[in-house]
Amino acid sequence: MFRNLKEIKGIGPAKAKALEDAGIKNIYDLLYYFPRRHIDRSISETTVFKDGQSVTLIVTIESHFLIHGKKTRLVVNARTLSGESIKFLFFHGAMYFVKVFEAGLTAAVSGKLEYRGGMQMVHPDFEFFDSDDEDALLHVGRIVPLYPSTETLKKKGLDSRGFRRLISAAFSLKDLVIDETLPETILKKHGFMQRSFAIKEIHFPENRENLNESYRRLKYEELYLFSALMHEKIKQRNREKRKLRPLAFQTSPLYKKLLSDLPFSLTDDQKTAIQEILKLSENDFAAAVLLQGDVGSGKTLAALAVMLHYTDRQIQAAIMAPTEVLARQHFKTITDFMGIQPGLHIELLTGSDKKKKKESVLEGLRSGEINCIIGTHSLIEDSVEFKNLGLVIIDEQHRFGVNQRESLRLKGKNPDVIAMTATPIPRSLCLTEFADLDLVVLKEKPAGRMPIQTMRLGEDKRKGLYKSIRNHVGNGRQCYIVYPVIDESKNDLKAAVHANEELSTAIFPEFRVELLHGRMKSDEKERIMNDFRSGSVQILVTTTVIEVGVDVPNATIMVIEHAERFGISQLHQLRGRVGRGSEESFCILMAENVTEEGEERLEALVKSDDGFFLSEVDMKLRGPGELLGYKQHGISGLRLSNLVEDRELAETAYRDIREIFELNDAAKEAIRRQFNEGVDVFPN
Ligand code: ADP
Ligand code: MG
Repeated sequence: MFRNLKEIKGIGPAKAKALEDAGIKNIYDLLYYFPRRHIDRSISETTVFKDGQSVTLIVTIESHFLIHGKKTRLVVNARTLSGESIKFLFFHGAMYFVKVFEAGLTAAVSGKLEYRGGMQMVHPDFEFFDSDDEDALLHVGRIVPLYPSTETLKKKGLDSRGFRRLISAAFSLKDLVIDETLPETILKKHGFMQRSFAIKEIHFPENRENLNESYRRLKYEELYLFSALMHEKIKQRNREKRKLRPLAFQTSPLYKKLLSDLPFSLTDDQKTAIQEILKLSENDFAAAVLLQGDVGSGKTLAALAVMLHYTDRQIQAAIMAPTEVLARQHFKTITDFMGIQPGLHIELLTGSDKKKKKESVLEGLRSGEINCIIGTHSLIEDSVEFKNLGLVIIDEQHRFGVNQRESLRLKGKNPDVIAMTATPIPRSLCLTEFADLDLVVLKEKPAGRMPIQTMRLGEDKRKGLYKSIRNHVGNGRQCYIVYPVIDESKNDLKAAVHANEELSTAIFPEFRVELLHGRMKSDEKERIMNDFRSGSVQILVTTTVIEVGVDVPNATIMVIEHAERFGISQLHQLRGRVGRGSEESFCILMAENVTEEGEERLEALVKSDDGFFLSEVDMKLRGPGELLGYKQHGISGLRLSNLVEDRELAETAYRDIREIFELNDAAKEAIRRQFNEGVDVFPN
């Protein structure tokens, strides 16, 4: 199966090179180059056709003529194999098709049959072929595969037809062996096709049932192998014994101090979460926890409380956040809660640190002098080394890729990991990608929170809106006005800059209005954030830099401009910036000219403040991939299946792997090929 492509008739050096550039390096890759879809070109054999019936016919082109009018039309006359005449009509692209339909050519045409004084089809799907051509039957008269291709590939003759020829030639190679990957018991249990047959059928299916069955089998195969990989990774991780052990729950002096100094008490969920996590840290194997809680449920404090049990034993802890604003804020929150304490040395590390500062932080981490570091992606740079990193906390975990999270973990001594997220994760994903994580959930929000009133307004209400903002801010509250700056380098930013000018001079001259966006220098960002936190800035005009985690309890109004341009999760996250204190809060969604889907989104937000409900709506409207950031950080390797759309199959595979864990050489090979990560788990 891993034989050289050049063994196939029709592949010379140029084609081989083009294929290689497209990632197809050998016959295995070619056979696993699956069609993007199929069309049914099974020839319709009956001679009695009904009006409106969809059929495929083989025809010979006889003549054609153009009808000129406002728009030029093309009429093509042809004859079927059984000798009947039929017309094809083209209303668009007539001038193009007139060159294509030459008299004498043979074609397979598929479309809906109409009787208008004779048989006709409007804009049929067609493919020409040479009836003497021996591979004609690859392209017509059957369920035909359509392959993904690119301009470069097409130039080398690798369009759908080209791929059909090569793949079919590969199947007829002498001694082609496609080894079975799945255990016999699994094949029997689910009534699956053999792998070799499934691969053939997914390209050139004999009929629809076979096609469906081949998909079912090959999707399952992927999921079974993927589950096996995850399973094995967990085992390997667990095989590594814990090296560092934090203090037991409630025995950390600084934790006790934190509790006695807190102006409020922990929620029951927070207490349980802290306890559960520390309980896991008593195991011999490192803990991996997914701390899930809706926006504002107080994950940061829970994580801090856990952390103190480590730092009090001089074990280092690292907190990684996806943005600099957020990292700074965690730093601020934690230092505010803790004050200056002997035995706790907290530092911040971000991409914009001055060289000298950075050097000294790096030194402090190496020597162990610093026992808590908060930072952005800069924490995973090579230059960052720890003395004894025993706890890794990842905030907004879905904003990082698997590899990024893993690189930080590997800097430690088999550390415990807490990944925090506000996005509920579908069950099938919990079983696979997150299978190795223990789920800890914060359900209740801190007491005394006023619900957030969400309203959707149009332009006609703007004057009134400004009046209420004036009232609230006059009464000492603060306000965010958010602009949809998707790309800070483009014109998008202008709108926010412009609005800031107008708001600060013409509309609210009596208040201090400031602009905060991602392209500003970081000391300037910090200054403005600090002034907003302290209340000296009253209105903050901003972009999605404040989307995650920013926490200013006195800010009670959030206006989101062009709310229709944001997704549900994003709006929910943004809205989570208010409603953090004990005052009533408002979220105003400004939107005009909204699409139907947009209306559904906004309506869901107005109706509900429940993150779980909203992510369900989001998933329905957008599909799960985007929701969880898989677009950017997708699980590469799953080509046919999708952990959410095929969740039942995923769950089955996951259950099976726990009962029947049998990987032969072909299966291991497939894992290595499909999931690059498998390389170190299943070495040759
Ligand atoms: P999350 O990260 O889960 O969205 P945060 O950790 O930012 O939430 O916490 C939100 C706000 O709630 C912060 O201002 C925090 O200080 C506050 N908070 C956390 N726990 C409690 C509690 N038990 N009682 C009252 N306020 C709390
Ligand atoms: Mg947070």
